[in-house]
Amino acid sequence: MRITRARALGTCFGVRDAIDAALSPEISIDLTIVGQLVHNPQTVQRLHDAGVKMVNSSDDEITTRNVMITAHGAPASLKKQLSDQGHIVYDATCPLVLRVHQAVRRLVTEGWHPVVIGQREHVEVKGIVGDLVDFTVISDLDDLHLLEGRERIGVVCQTTYRIRQAKEILLQIGQRFPDLDIEFIDTVCKPTKDRQNAVDELSEQVDVMIVVGGTNSSNTHKLLNVCREKEVPAYHVENDEQLEPGWFVGVEHVGITAGTSTPHDVIDQIHAKLVEISRQQ
Ligand code: SF4
Repeated sequence: MRITRARALGTCFGVRDAIDAALSPEISIDLTIVGQLVHNPQTVQRLHDAGVKMVNSSDDEITTRNVMITAHGAPASLKKQLSDQGHIVYDATCPLVLRVHQAVRRLVTEGWHPVVIGQREHVEVKGIVGDLVDFTVISDLDDLHLLEGRERIGVVCQTTYRIRQAKEILLQIGQRFPDLDIEFIDTVCKPTKDRQNAVDELSEQVDVMIVVGGTNSSNTHKLLNVCREKEVPAYHVENDEQLEPGWFVGVEHVGITAGTSTPHDVIDQIHAKLVEISRQQ
């Protein structure tokens, strides 16, 4: 059985830098991370093992001096609140998420109504809109009615959104509101696009795809959706123990892809287990 990795997969620089910062000895010794740093169980375990505390939100009790904002970012008001409470705030927001915050600020300054295409409950989206008074989040086509009565909208995307889906939503907005003035800034990040394009290509060559990542990882689910759209059988696993030899009976070529929060050592373990399964066939 041939095994091919997608040409872009696994941890992106934004997640890697945030993890490195959280695990650095001078910070991790007395650190609470607000929100999940990465949607990956192995990395979360490593942080626990290093003594790092994690809370879901700033409403939870924080007993450490150091506090970290995750790569997904947070509203400026939250950073100020934590600082006012006496914490030293380490901001691990990915520069490409900050770019979205800046884009939204510019749109608002120029008088556009800010619209974010993304998952309403995702921490990144909450961070983007958290300081805004008037905004709209479009999670899917059912939300288009929220734009009734608007004249000028400035649109950005969650960094891990599928650009193809975002463009479809934009098209539908234009058709439903032909008089609406629309300024669109494509803020889907390059690492996400690279991984989506790579799985798009690879899924045309393989019989089965293994998608590696946390079950709560949004961008991993999007990679899975790409495979399903291509009608390639795809299995979502978090670790090598979840691989079942029965999936590969009669399979000649298997592909591996992984979300931006999946560590490369987990991908290596998956690859090694596939080699073992292949030898036993
Ligand atoms: S997915 Fe993109 S925006 Fe998010 S941390 Fe990685 S590089 Fe940054």
